[in-house]
Amino acid sequence: MSKRDDIKPATRVVTAGRRREWTQGIVNPPVWRASTVLYDSIAEMRETGRGDTTHKLYYGRRGTPTQWSLAHALTELEPGAAGTLLYGSGVAAISTALLSVLGPGDELLLVDSAYEPTRALANGLLKRFGISTRLYDPMIGAGIADLIGDKTRAIFLESPGSLTFEVQDVPAIVAAARARGLVTLLDNTWATPLYFPAIEKGIDLTILAATKYVVGHSDAMLGSVTANAEWFPRLRATTYQLGQTASPDDAWLGARGIRTMAVRLAQHERSALAIAHWLADRPEVARVLHPALPSCPGHDLFVRDFAGSTGLFAFALADGDEASRAAFIDALDLFGIGFSWGGYESLAIPCDPVRSVAETDFGGPLVRLHIGLEEPDDLIADLDRAFSLFRDRRG
Ligand SMILES: *Cc1c(COP(=O)(O)O)cnc(C)c1O
Repeated sequence: MSKRDDIKPATRVVTAGRRREWTQGIVNPPVWRASTVLYDSIAEMRETGRGDTTHKLYYGRRGTPTQWSLAHALTELEPGAAGTLLYGSGVAAISTALLSVLGPGDELLLVDSAYEPTRALANGLLKRFGISTRLYDPMIGAGIADLIGDKTRAIFLESPGSLTFEVQDVPAIVAAARARGLVTLLDNTWATPLYFPAIEKGIDLTILAATKYVVGHSDAMLGSVTANAEWFPRLRATTYQLGQTASPDDAWLGARGIRTMAVRLAQHERSALAIAHWLADRPEVARVLHPALPSCPGHDLFVRDFAGSTGLFAFALADGDEASRAAFIDALDLFGIGFSWGGYESLAIPCDPVRSVAETDFGGPLVRLHIGLEEPDDLIADLDRAFSLFRDRRG
């Protein structure tokens, strides 16, 4: 499709990755399922396997045009990126990215507000393979330089943080990393490249749980890692050695979902902001943790660095406890109770963040909301009803 560089990201999500040899001229690339690829001769088989097989039909594990189309679309959304690989989940993307850059004896600096399974990987498999982890405060900024030692190899960021939404000073951390020759990885699932083009901001490898906003309909698991030219070859080699792959059917759902990602995000943003502001004025709410509100740690960095906000945020219940929080969430009608997020439907869960060095007192027990594509007035009425139950229960 369009080769133009001057188009805006919302246009690019529509045009990106739709190469004619992959789509065969139809609008949405079809599902190409494959394990075996047949060759006319031994010579052709050998020739196909030579050099870079990224976009050649070689063997099913290396993908087909269905996966390449989505991967290429994600690369086109990240100015400065060299390539993207897809995985069967966001966690698979995180583990493969980390295994691509770390080796025995290395130390990883991991943000304390990282997604829980990322911490579990650091404390589990990485530790077992001789990689140590030091957790750092999400608000550390340029102060990260003081934590960098001789063995430090990589810095993992997640901004805003899982559950508590601290916005990190990515440019300051990238500058400190560059000065000491370290590699940076960012879990960019919340903002997506539409609201935070990570490679352009100096990140080396940027990770998405594509399960969330890329797929957008809560019906497939998918992950991606997009890397710059320095790191893409190593990422690809590690991905191939680990046998990581994403199914063509799930990639197809991602390739279909991404076409509406810009309009979905715009609506998630509008509705979530309306609800976050409404919550901020409620007496039952101690604090709203939404990057676009001043009550969120790193709000000024959000204003400086991000092009928009999305549908996921949290708030603390004033004078609440475990039981009154459960009563509040159980009373919600339009919010599902369940893990994951990024789909068209609203969700609510209790969250109790595990932290080692960062702040954990946010003024009360936390509720995390994902604001879906329902009419925000209906969601507000639902929350209002649940607050009256919360007040009764709180006594
Ligand atoms: C959900 C999530 C992941 C993991 O993605 P899965 O596809 O569920 O494995 C990683 N990071 C963040 C921030 C997430 O919210």
